[in-house]
Amino acid sequence: MLILVVNAGSSSLKYQLINMDDESVLAKGNCDRIGIDGHISHKTADGRAFDADCTFPTHTEAFEKLVEVLTTGDHAVIKSMDEISAVGHRIVQGAEIFDRPCLVTPEVIDQIDGLAELAPVHNHAHALALRACTAVIPATTPQVVVFDTAFHQTMPPKAYMFGLPYEDYEKYHVRKYGFHGTSHRFVSSALAEAMGKNIEDLKIVSCHLGNGSSITAVNGGKCVDTSMGFTPLDGVLMGTRCGAVDPSAVTFVASKHGFTPDEMSQYMNKKSGFLGVSGVSSDNRDIQEAAKQGNKRAQLASEMLAYEIQKYIGSYTAAMNGVDAVLFTGGIGENSAEIRELVCSGMSWFGIEIDNEINNATRGKLQKISTPDSKVEVWIVPTNEELLIARDTLELISK
Ligand code: ADP
Repeated sequence: MLILVVNAGSSSLKYQLINMDDESVLAKGNCDRIGIDGHISHKTADGRAFDADCTFPTHTEAFEKLVEVLTTGDHAVIKSMDEISAVGHRIVQGAEIFDRPCLVTPEVIDQIDGLAELAPVHNHAHALALRACTAVIPATTPQVVVFDTAFHQTMPPKAYMFGLPYEDYEKYHVRKYGFHGTSHRFVSSALAEAMGKNIEDLKIVSCHLGNGSSITAVNGGKCVDTSMGFTPLDGVLMGTRCGAVDPSAVTFVASKHGFTPDEMSQYMNKKSGFLGVSGVSSDNRDIQEAAKQGNKRAQLASEMLAYEIQKYIGSYTAAMNGVDAVLFTGGIGENSAEIRELVCSGMSWFGIEIDNEINNATRGKLQKISTPDSKVEVWIVPTNEELLIARDTLELISK
């Protein structure tokens, strides 16, 4: 059974075609620069590649091209879209409406579009892609939406409310939503399996560290708190995002620069984080390289990220009244031995001890990196959000 997984942004449409019989990826690619000019890059599992400039005025033309490359030419992997059993879409913001995946209907697309105010960069683009997909694929092919926020809907009000007047929660839905939920759900259950335990019996701190980073407390398989908030700007220092700062610093800086709210948002989302602190780069590899060469601001950026993660591990251990395992995932979490070491050093009181040799030798694969004596197990768990979207899609259409 084949499932097409789609991750649409405002100017891009990433896709993977997954064979659910063995969960292998048959082809993947990206329709990029939608609304600008257009480019598609496509790769099949057996190494056939296709790259071309195209015209993508809207998501519809991008979808049409995607169908064309999957079904025709040297790089085709299927004969017709009828071979695809369902399409699963990643959606960033489901707010309080969607606490689980659901089948796509015109009403669901309108609801997703209606949440655009809460996720301006993403939700409207998702709605455009959903409408384009509906117009292009066979009418009999079911579509499913899987939300980044859904896993975090189990947080209690004491964790998700802000100390702002309650009326603004009721009127404007201002609260913590959390993001990366599909990843945290995937890796925490993969970890339970690797540990040979029931997830219901585990207290896990899940650290998803990439260009965007979030830390989640998973107690018994359910999210009880998470570091991202109303938007994916809150929490720890990221590639270009500042993470949590004193709100008064925000209004102060905005008034000093004469920024509008949108300009201040750009400053915090695009010019801050690793990039803003180091002045070197938003990319962790560049930061680690510069830090090794003695760049003080790059060293500071690394130390800030690690220190913030340590504090989240501490506070989420308190929130769950214990912790059995800490896991690292995402581009940085899976690959950066330096960041993992910085986080885990100095946490022996918490029962965290890692084996530096194993830590240094491991990249991008499932691996326990804590010592046999470590009270808390520490693991690297590669994430795979597309696969979980495909599994959710399959589960829903099988019902
Ligand atoms: P996104 O949040 O966009 O999905 P990723 O999860 O791909 O991002 O993470 C990107 C980050 O991972 C970048 O900061 C990059 O430097 C870092 N990264 C990727 N590979 C390595 C590596 N081998 N060593 C250190 N950092 C890495």
